[in-house]
Amino acid sequence: MFKTIMNLKLHWQILIALLLAVIAGIVAGKTASIFGITFYNIFSFIGSLFMNALKMIIIPLIVSSIIVGVARIGGGEGLARMGGRTILYYATTSLFAILLGLLFVNVLSPGIIDGQPAQQVLGLDAEQGQMAAAKVGEKGVGDIAGVFLDMVPANVVSAAANGQLLGLIFFSILFGYFITRIQEAYAEAQYNFWEGILEVMMKITDLVMKFAPIGVFALVAKVIAGMDGDEMLSLASTLGWFFLSVVLALAAHVFIVLPLLLKYVARVSPTRHFQAMSPALLTAFSTASSSATLPLTMECVEKNAGVSNKTTSFVLPLGATVNMDGTALYECVAAMFIAQAYGIELSFTVQFTVVLVALLTSIGVAGIPAASLVAITIILGVIGLPVEALGLILAVDRILDMFRTSVNVFSDSCGAVIIGRYEGEKGILQEERAL
Ligand code: ASP
Repeated sequence: MFKTIMNLKLHWQILIALLLAVIAGIVAGKTASIFGITFYNIFSFIGSLFMNALKMIIIPLIVSSIIVGVARIGGGEGLARMGGRTILYYATTSLFAILLGLLFVNVLSPGIIDGQPAQQVLGLDAEQGQMAAAKVGEKGVGDIAGVFLDMVPANVVSAAANGQLLGLIFFSILFGYFITRIQEAYAEAQYNFWEGILEVMMKITDLVMKFAPIGVFALVAKVIAGMDGDEMLSLASTLGWFFLSVVLALAAHVFIVLPLLLKYVARVSPTRHFQAMSPALLTAFSTASSSATLPLTMECVEKNAGVSNKTTSFVLPLGATVNMDGTALYECVAAMFIAQAYGIELSFTVQFTVVLVALLTSIGVAGIPAASLVAITIILGVIGLPVEALGLILAVDRILDMFRTSVNVFSDSCGAVIIGRYEGEKGILQEERAL
């Protein structure tokens, strides 16, 4: 039996792990224990081990991969072309996602229950509101500027240590570019050095990926075990529409908009791409972090979808930090939901502002769990709603985070495929590739 499971393709293993995790989480709850240790703590320990292993890979992987990728693209013209296309793809798809969110939240009106603003039904919990406020602190539009300031890090070592990926990406692009501008002997030595590191990091990623089913099991079992059944039921009745609006809008983006782009812009089979990406998507779902999933995303896009390392290493690290379709969509739906729940009519201009700020903040949001909450406070501040209102959505945020992170990762991967095709790459999603 164990052997049969081990022989299954990775995405099946992860899927089975996910299902088992739901059962284990429900059975174990927060209190069941073995030898005096709660299962909850065991899940948490194993899950953290897996997350740490993923995070351990990120810095050396993205630095080496961007340097090699950019050095391979070579001269400034190629880089400018790919950079331009990448940014165009990111901006367009994020905007699409936000507009979809806006459509769903306006049509389904989750903030209005029985014709009344939901605030009364939900009885905005003051304690939860304060918790939310404490969690995100005071954030304002100035914080968006801060994100762009970090893009040029004063200290690249500290940027790496603090996980400021955007700064690190900027430095790596420069480094890779100037490798092509030095004496040939040095350039070759540099290139081989970074290429060697990249190869090693891909091998380590392979190894960590083998543990994905166990990691996913632990992470999801922990989330489920930590839930209070009664609380969930009462939440489902009040926040159900909000939950549904987000999930339906995300589904429309992932199952309609992005596949259409794959089919008509990249001219590849969307089904095949879903298959190629499934291990990364399931990991994104379980970790709720697109940064932590990045090594797996790169592996799937390169090995399963067949996009070149040159494209992958430029498009994906950048995407994991700046392209967040799911996040942008969620920010818009959440802000609009809160406004509806407070009984505030938002004019066209204000809705336009929400769209714009959602787009900008989604660029700045880090690829870590619950990062959207900070961005939502910024939007709430801009449209003049109290930060405490965030308490309304806190209870369902984790599960929705899992969905939106998968959407973020899927959009990045579609970007890599589309840009790879525009770069004239052959063999993307053309044949069945085995992992
Ligand atoms: N968890 C998301 C991600 O890593 C960010 C967010 O929306 O909170 O992509």
